Amino acid sequence: MSISLGELLLLGQGSDLASERGVSCTGELPPASEPGLVERAIAARAALGSRALILGHHYQRDEVIQFADITGDSFKLAQAAAEQSSAEFIFFCGVHFMAESADILTSSKQRVILPDLAAGCSMADMATANQVNQCWKDLEKLGVASKTVPVTYMNSSAAIKAFTGEHGGTICTSSNAQKTLEWAFAKAEKVLFLPDQHLGRNTAVLSLGLSLDDCVLWNPWKPMGGLTEDEIRGAKMILWRGHCSVHGRFTRESIQEVRTRVPGVQVIVHPECQHEVVVDADVVGSTEKIIQTVTASPAGSKWAIGTELNLVSRLAQNNPDKEIVFLDKTVCYCSTMNRIDLPHLVWAMESILAGHIVNEIKVEEKVARFSKLALEQMLAL
Ligand code: SF4
Repeated sequence: MSISLGELLLLGQGSDLASERGVSCTGELPPASEPGLVERAIAARAALGSRALILGHHYQRDEVIQFADITGDSFKLAQAAAEQSSAEFIFFCGVHFMAESADILTSSKQRVILPDLAAGCSMADMATANQVNQCWKDLEKLGVASKTVPVTYMNSSAAIKAFTGEHGGTICTSSNAQKTLEWAFAKAEKVLFLPDQHLGRNTAVLSLGLSLDDCVLWNPWKPMGGLTEDEIRGAKMILWRGHCSVHGRFTRESIQEVRTRVPGVQVIVHPECQHEVVVDADVVGSTEKIIQTVTASPAGSKWAIGTELNLVSRLAQNNPDKEIVFLDKTVCYCSTMNRIDLPHLVWAMESILAGHIVNEIKVEEKVARFSKLALEQMLAL
């Protein structure tokens, strides 16, 4: 089944493996209401023993994260995948692009399993290989590609990571974005930052001291990104027009509202939030930094947190001596992260125990080679 650009594909249906969008689960999942599900998960995990490693992203549900051997943000989990060589199966409880990175960074004997193939990322889908190649051709035509280094957020497909490696760039995460941009500007005049405009803009302006006028926004749906030649020539940061639909929900109004509702509250947000939100917050930081900052704060501290709700709820549970509230008034889960649930994890583990390898994520050799260059460049920084 081929999916044309712009066509809607419902999560959990179809089979567009080239996309971060939903695909169907091929197996017989245990019902979520099955009373013995946790026992089945415990038994399957024990039977797999050291043959398996379960990696769990911080945005995963509690029912899944309790089985993770290592929890972390995308940077920490990429490091964990790169550093371990013994587990035969790596169950990646996160989203598709993270499992691709784990496959690229592990040996060919290790197999990476994504329990639900519908766990994609809408931000990663906002930059396709064709669009990025066209952008680079336009920059070449203008004579600025040779002065430009691509820096690509981890939240991107392997194809975009490969483009980055092939053009001398690096991958970054929200934990190391400043370091990677400093590295890039030591090599070149301009950075093409893919695919999250907000992380790129926030890091360039708030950490590197560039101005908002140094940044332009490349719209992949318009000829020449919707920019004039002068705008492109004058820019230091060419930001791709992508964003996270979860972090994009937080607004200045959410911050004003929580400051009124909870006197003395400190606001901490993820750098994928809009620039005005990050400017108005007290602290900005990666998922790991948010966890460390809130955990290390004194008893009685009050925090409003602008990131995914599973993580915020867990921080509230783990820090009962602090007042922790969610920055938005409405529920704000990452719907694709939430695709991984206990039935999918149990099904994947039991299938492998029965000798059927399911939902393996395998990146094509050439794409993997160039992606690895860019990922290793990041890990070396
Ligand atoms: S939280 Fe945002 S960036 Fe992260 S996986 Fe979900 S949609 Fe993608």
